[in-house]
Amino acid sequence: MRSPIQQLADSVICNTYVREEVTFVRGSGCRLWDEKGNEYRDFVAGIAVCNLGHCPENVAKAICDQARKLVHVSNLYYTEPQVELAAELVKRSFADRVFFCNSGAEANEAAIKLARKYSRDRFGPGRFHVITMKNSFHGRTLATLSATGQEKVHKGFEPLVDGFVYVDFDSIEAVEAAVTDKTCAVMVEPIQGEGGVRIPSPGYLKGLRELCNEKKLLLIFDEVQVGMGRTGSLFAYEQEEVEPDIMTLAKALANGLPMGAMLAREDVASSFGPGSHASTFGGTPLVAAAALETVRTIAQRTFLDRVKTMGRYFLDKLKKLEQKYTFVKDVRGRGLMVAMELDIPGAPIVKSCLEKGALINCVQEKILRFTPPLIVEREEIDWLVEILDGVFKEQA
Ligand SMILES: *Cc1c(COP(=O)(O)O)cnc(C)c1O
Repeated sequence: MRSPIQQLADSVICNTYVREEVTFVRGSGCRLWDEKGNEYRDFVAGIAVCNLGHCPENVAKAICDQARKLVHVSNLYYTEPQVELAAELVKRSFADRVFFCNSGAEANEAAIKLARKYSRDRFGPGRFHVITMKNSFHGRTLATLSATGQEKVHKGFEPLVDGFVYVDFDSIEAVEAAVTDKTCAVMVEPIQGEGGVRIPSPGYLKGLRELCNEKKLLLIFDEVQVGMGRTGSLFAYEQEEVEPDIMTLAKALANGLPMGAMLAREDVASSFGPGSHASTFGGTPLVAAAALETVRTIAQRTFLDRVKTMGRYFLDKLKKLEQKYTFVKDVRGRGLMVAMELDIPGAPIVKSCLEKGALINCVQEKILRFTPPLIVEREEIDWLVEILDGVFKEQA
């Protein structure tokens, strides 16, 4: 039965999503409630967005305090939260400078523009190609959908933005073979998210770094999904002994308020000058205040260690399910970015879980993806695995 609000949505909202038949009205920690008062446990977290859970007290307070002080002024002026946030991100990363925007796609747009500009400044025109990976996901604006190595994302929007070349993920040879005198950068997700939680071989990112150094290319990490503590370090690249030249963040950066950021090393960032790029809302004080609280909470050693511990616990539990059901092909993950690959469609599993009050997600048709709030408890993981066990039993 579709509720009145769902029926209204059918007539007034652009039909761009396949939505489950549930309307949420409230959230707290790992839990959500619908308009009928039914309770759910959330293992999606807005797709790796609410990393501190729903409505955490410290972020709520930061938002409320800032909302009463100053919500927005133009980037023609300075504001404290924006500058403090940038300083915090710089202190905790490879980067020297930050550009703020409002989404992952915008952060990647900024990265692509900066890579083109840097290359033009240094080497002259004509060197603007960016090598990206098959099965990648970088956003839905024209440039970022063009950067995305998935035909289903391109379809109907051709002609694409010129200058993107797609190669196999997890193959340094494929990147090397694709480099020409037109290439300016390599853009990659340290772990592919929408592509199905694909973790590259050890040494892959390091190999890309060496190749980029040798060919004088910029290395761009899209950490929109894997950043902000998701994998057990503040940024995923920290676990790989490698640093990018440019990195993009969004999703969990402000724990649910819309914010994106592009971070870069000084010599790269200096290709942007006044007038090069801009965003009306980028780094607005309300959102920056939420992000500052979020970054400071997640960056704590004890918090990140706990993500690793819970991730291992979750993975072990899912591996036990893998042994029990032949249609489970693989279980993989890092930190609390976890996936279970099936050889049956995932959508009916997602639906059955929802009926039992568990929110999970499916990518690439057969891959269940789990991105719970990073504050998830052992007993909540136990609860989900039991639900999955029950749903799997009905399938077997
Ligand atoms: C979600 C995502 C994006 C796009 O972010 P939006 O905020 O939806 O524009 C880009 N890159 C990756 C890796 C993502 O997961």
